[in-house]
Order: sequence, then structure tokens, then C-alpha cells
Amino acid sequence: MISKTMQDAINEQINKEMFSSYLYLSMAAYFEGDNLSGFGNWLHIQAHEENEHAMKLYSYLLERGGKVELKGIAAPQTSWASAMEAVKEVQKHEQYVTKSIHDLYEVALTEKDYATQVFLHWFIAEQVEEEANAAAILESMERIEAHNTAILMLDHNLAKRKAD
Ligand code: MG
Repeated sequence: MISKTMQDAINEQINKEMFSSYLYLSMAAYFEGDNLSGFGNWLHIQAHEENEHAMKLYSYLLERGGKVELKGIAAPQTSWASAMEAVKEVQKHEQYVTKSIHDLYEVALTEKDYATQVFLHWFIAEQVEEEANAAAILESMERIEAHNTAILMLDHNLAKRKAD
């Protein structure tokens, strides 16, 4: 049986993953409304992945005999000053999620919850990938900042991105 402290911390992470999904969906809508459908496609996939992260935690908590307690999801921002600002926020948000996964791991260490420690290894590795992806897209954008044609080419590339 999972401890109440561990259960509460996992429920909090479920909420954070759901908020991430909501935030990226809001960004997808922002980009699609701005006719940057490639960015929209990328963020749609990201939104779906965040939902899957929440569901992984959800299933794990139930498997451990814990209680899933869904909380209200905060309303995300609906517009950004520019495509660059939105992508910067993706990066900042992923850094925040990485920290929250690490904090969750700390709880598993304190609780001596070995099963949860092993379970969280996947999330720790996933965050390395999420941060690297955001950094790579941001870097491409910084290189081509002044060139709208190149932004459109990047949009075209992102349109080809498929769900894993
Ligand atoms: Mg996530």
C-alpha cells in the first residue's frame, strides 16, 4: 500500500501533467489561429503526450492501491506576444516540470518507496528528452529569428512530425 504522502504527491503531479496538456493545447490553438499549423501540429502532439504522462501516473497510483484525486485544472494563457515567446514558454515550462519530477522523486526517497523510485526513472529520462527538444526548436528559431521564410520552413518541418 502506498503512503498518503506519496499518494498526495503523485496526485499533484497528475494535475501538473494535465495542466501541461491544457497549456500546450492552448498554444496549439494560438498557432493554428495564426496560420502556423506546423507549430500547431507539434503542440497538439505534445498536449497528447502530457495527457499520457498523467494517465501513466493515474494507472500506477491505482495499481499501488492508492486513490486518484483529480483536482481543478487552471486556465492556461491563450495568447503570446510571438511564436518565439510561446516556444520560450514551452522550454521554461518543461524546466519547471523537470523540477517537479525531481521533487516527486525526493518524496519517494524520503518515504523509502522503492517501487515509486523505479517507476519515476522513466519520467526523469523523459524530461531530458523534453528539454532537449524544446531547446533544439528554440535554437532553430533564434538562428532564423529575422527571416520569416525560414520560420515558415520550420513550420513545414514541424508539420511532418508524427506521434510516437
Ligand atoms: Mg509531462
